Amino acid sequence: MQRKHITIDGIVQGVGFRPFIYNLAHQHHLTGYVTNTSTGVEIEVEGRAQAIRQFQIRLNKDAPPLCVIRTISSQGSPLNGDTTFQIRPSHHATTPTTLIAPDVATCEACLEEIFDPQNRRYLYPFTNCTNCGPRFTIIKQLPYDRAATSMASFTMCPECQAEYDDPHNRRFHAQPNACPTCGPMVTLWSSNQTPVTTTEPLRETAKRLKEGAIVALKGLGGFHLAVLATEAKAVRRLRERKHREEKPLAIMVPDLATAQTLCDLTLEAEQLLTSWQRPIVLLRKKHPSPIVEAVAPDNPRLGVMLPYTPLHQILFHYQLPPLVMTSANLTEEPICVNNAEAFHRLQHIADYFLTHDRDIYLRTDDSVMITIGKQVLPLRRSRGYAPQPIFVNSTGPPVLAVGGELKNTVCLLKDDRAFLSQHIGDLANQEAYAAFQKTITHLTQVFETVPELIVQDLHPDYFSTRWAREQTGVRRLAVQHHHAHLAAVLAENQVSEPVIGLIMDGTGYGTDGAIWGGEVLIGDLGEFQRYAHFEYMPLPGGDAAIRAPWRIALSYLIRTFGEDFPQLPFLKQHNWAPVAELVTRNVRCYPTSSCGRLFDAVAALCGGRQTIHYEGQAAIEFMYRVQSLKVRPFAYELEQTATGWQLSVQPIIRAVVRAIQNGESLERLASRFHATLVKLFVELARQARADTGLKLVALSGGVFQNQVLVEALVPALKRARFTVLVHRKVPPNDGGLALGQGLIGRQTLNQG
Ligand code: ZN
Ligand code: ZN
Ligand code: FE
Repeated sequence: MQRKHITIDGIVQGVGFRPFIYNLAHQHHLTGYVTNTSTGVEIEVEGRAQAIRQFQIRLNKDAPPLCVIRTISSQGSPLNGDTTFQIRPSHHATTPTTLIAPDVATCEACLEEIFDPQNRRYLYPFTNCTNCGPRFTIIKQLPYDRAATSMASFTMCPECQAEYDDPHNRRFHAQPNACPTCGPMVTLWSSNQTPVTTTEPLRETAKRLKEGAIVALKGLGGFHLAVLATEAKAVRRLRERKHREEKPLAIMVPDLATAQTLCDLTLEAEQLLTSWQRPIVLLRKKHPSPIVEAVAPDNPRLGVMLPYTPLHQILFHYQLPPLVMTSANLTEEPICVNNAEAFHRLQHIADYFLTHDRDIYLRTDDSVMITIGKQVLPLRRSRGYAPQPIFVNSTGPPVLAVGGELKNTVCLLKDDRAFLSQHIGDLANQEAYAAFQKTITHLTQVFETVPELIVQDLHPDYFSTRWAREQTGVRRLAVQHHHAHLAAVLAENQVSEPVIGLIMDGTGYGTDGAIWGGEVLIGDLGEFQRYAHFEYMPLPGGDAAIRAPWRIALSYLIRTFGEDFPQLPFLKQHNWAPVAELVTRNVRCYPTSSCGRLFDAVAALCGGRQTIHYEGQAAIEFMYRVQSLKVRPFAYELEQTATGWQLSVQPIIRAVVRAIQNGESLERLASRFHATLVKLFVELARQARADTGLKLVALSGGVFQNQVLVEALVPALKRARFTVLVHRKVPPNDGGLALGQGLIGRQTLNQG
């Protein structure tokens, strides 16, 4: 006979771990107890040594799918003579580092019940169990118990309570457990806030959708706007009302088979679509398609997701075709979460509202992913992923990093885990800024952490920077934007040695006050050196230029050729004289080394996108034009200057202009430009290796969302015998910035 005290650390709460332990202990005839602690789970087992050994082996091997076990430690304990195995109530230790599970798509077992007419949960849209359902979006504090969630106001009926109390039941301690008798209910409303009289609100909703109505649906992390994706008129109405002219809308399709008929799917894309995270996956469209062009105009890709709540599943059960399913907000606002807010903000957009009475505590947008070869590249890491930590290979005092301004996320670094928040959005928007503050409060509260350092971007005017400045009594650190991008890719790959960082980005504040974004940084989490950068070019009128790539094209043209610049066809579309004036007189022109802006300039010069409706549109559409990278790259020059290597942009502009004058097609121009960047980046890396001896290359920055570029560059670097670090867990765009900031902050603290 033996007794062992076992402590487990990882994502083990709210994922069916205690019932699993309970059953395992019974199978091996062990007595003792299991309990949630703020640091994870604590177990004591007593029984025959052989049985305890078996128990420990299976603990690791057979744990429920959502568990992430980080460490197990066990030690002998004096025999106690327990006669039963018990699940004891949670006790709250002083420093919670327990991990909260993200929201999980409905499991197969729950689906079977929902569609079984004999089951008491037949067509019940809030069905869930320990393996599935809402988590992060309903949790107010730890430890994770019903009272700490937005289910606290629903008292379980005797049947639900019996399930909850029965260790052999799939719903044992399933905190959001509910049924039609005791749980949340849906209501369908018309846009003037009167309820639609019906006994079957979901069937009624499906009917209205089929008639072309726009319905605001309350989901897991917020409201969506849903409309038929197969009716041009309906989609156009939604776009008009939402003030979203061109940005692609995501669709939700009933099942994987439908996705297969609409898009080309690799095995990896299928796995991603059907994963319990259920992200939006960007996929190549098939033709002809029942999905109308207005869903993603001039776009060969479609953002597709599968239903992830019972509510979605039941709607599709009423024979709905694919639906546009887009975050319910006006452009740039964060997703809407509560009923009153939805009625207020969406009254002029939605024809109907399908609401329910389970509150969403934290708003969470859908995540967006692409696949590159067999790898996943996150573009937006949110629902299903947050707040799962990114494990890092260092430890130290807690740090809060507040991220950038656009695509903002924040990061709380605690011990060896970085809690990167859900996507918050553009902080210039008031609601997004409020969400930013709430998220910081929530993260520091649930993890009971007082950060010793707050890390911000070097940009003095970012809203996140201003917030950081307002915090008193805590150390602050400003980190250069592209150093943070570099640190983000190092952090998620658990690399701490110096590397060659190819950081190709849109906009970031440089240490010299210029706008950086085409940078080769040599560095690690502690420091960096700007090894090379793109030539500074004039950005006329700042943000106005970013919205109108043709202005950047004109500016680069004038810088390259002077006042007698060639009159290319794209100029005919614009009243360009006033902008030319700014550039020639060098008024309100900001120097930039941005690679993203070079993309904009070349795309517009070549006759591609002239003005944009969403961030990165010019570069994205230019990428879609690429046919093959087996084309002759444009000429470019690397120059050694007093401050390091410089990529001269003017020779590229000259070569592009020559090709345009030779009548080359937009497709060929786009292909040649991408081929140029691949060749250039490999050469920059080689040069850096020759100078430093480093063989590790890290890719980060918004430009590396470009699938075509990454697909060609990574193998090219490998052929040149580099080891390449890329993003797989956090986005290469500013959504990943806070992770890098956090790690740089820790390094600073640890160095004293
Ligand atoms: Zn389930
Ligand atoms: Zn019930
Ligand atoms: Fe950036």
